Amino acid sequence: MNKNYKYYILIFALSALCFFFIFKGVSLITNNSIEKQLKALNYNKQTIELIIDYDLTNYLIENDIYSKTLEVALLEGNYIADNLTDYIYFEYKNYDKYIEHLNGLKAIGYRNDEINHIFEHLNQNEIDQIIDQTGIIPNLTNYITDQYFDINNLERYILYKNDNTNYSYEKVINYVNMNLDYNFYEKIEKTKNPDSNIVIVNKYYYLDKDFIPKNLQSFGTKYAINNDIKATKPVIDAFIAIANDAKSINLTIKVVSGYRSYDSQEAVYKRYVDRDGEEKANTYSAKPGHSEHQTGLALDIYNTVLSFSNFEKTVEYAWVKNNAHRYGFIVRYPLNKEDITGYKYEPWHIRYVGEEIATYIYENNITFDEYYAKFLK
Ligand SMILES: [Zn+2]
Repeated sequence: MNKNYKYYILIFALSALCFFFIFKGVSLITNNSIEKQLKALNYNKQTIELIIDYDLTNYLIENDIYSKTLEVALLEGNYIADNLTDYIYFEYKNYDKYIEHLNGLKAIGYRNDEINHIFEHLNQNEIDQIIDQTGIIPNLTNYITDQYFDINNLERYILYKNDNTNYSYEKVINYVNMNLDYNFYEKIEKTKNPDSNIVIVNKYYYLDKDFIPKNLQSFGTKYAINNDIKATKPVIDAFIAIANDAKSINLTIKVVSGYRSYDSQEAVYKRYVDRDGEEKANTYSAKPGHSEHQTGLALDIYNTVLSFSNFEKTVEYAWVKNNAHRYGFIVRYPLNKEDITGYKYEPWHIRYVGEEIATYIYENNITFDEYYAKFLK
């Protein structure tokens, strides 16, 4: 009995050992075959271990899936199970924070089509800023797909769109980039490169009190109503060219006002405010420092018969309007652009910006304010 007992124990132990080796063998064979299949899909050894650990084997093999994005997520330790199908959907982009960005955007709740636009239109820093926002930005795609989108203005776009729901996204971006979400004179800054032909001076950008343009010269009485009228040299040259060409077809244009100092603008503006009140004066006269006339690049012109304020009625204006750009001038405060320029229509006020920019502005029927926000800011 005692002997038999030992015998059974031995049989049992041997059997257990056998089963263990059979099982181990089968499992080794299975694992070997899994590794082979994953390897065939193009996963490397390290990734295969992680795939097995995360129990993704069957899914990947059955659906015949290789995903570089998934592979990197696993290897980086940034794999999130909920995002499995997203890793497979999104083609890998080769930069360090890609998986972090993908996980971050998913966590906020952006849809995959939105995430596609984000990756297509925003750089890495901009994506960081989108992820740093508290929560999802409704209609984000409509903002970021606009070519003039500026991430620094994002919050202002959203607020401005909320206040102006009938405006298109394009208009919202265009207007905010011009600072039109602020009232005129509400948020002002000193303009850059005041001596350049492309300087902007308007109700948001000003010139220093003591700024005087270089190269100021007199027009002389052949081209201006008196000898005191000045502008910068390129403006005088361009005006002489346009005035001579006008003359050759029996049209006369002459300058009534050119460069104006800060102090003289201050006097002019004060006179208008005293007469009409500030609100009305602001529609046609600039606060000192905000006048284009201080740049030496702006001219008020007339035809020597009617006063400049009637210039619109003259044949000279009809010609100037369609030809000034060829000499580098634009009509600076056009009709129906009052909400952008902050000034009522001023057919007599022309501004020198150079031929190329003047031609673009003329052909596209935009203002210099828009041109500046789009191309020069
Ligand atoms: Zn003027």
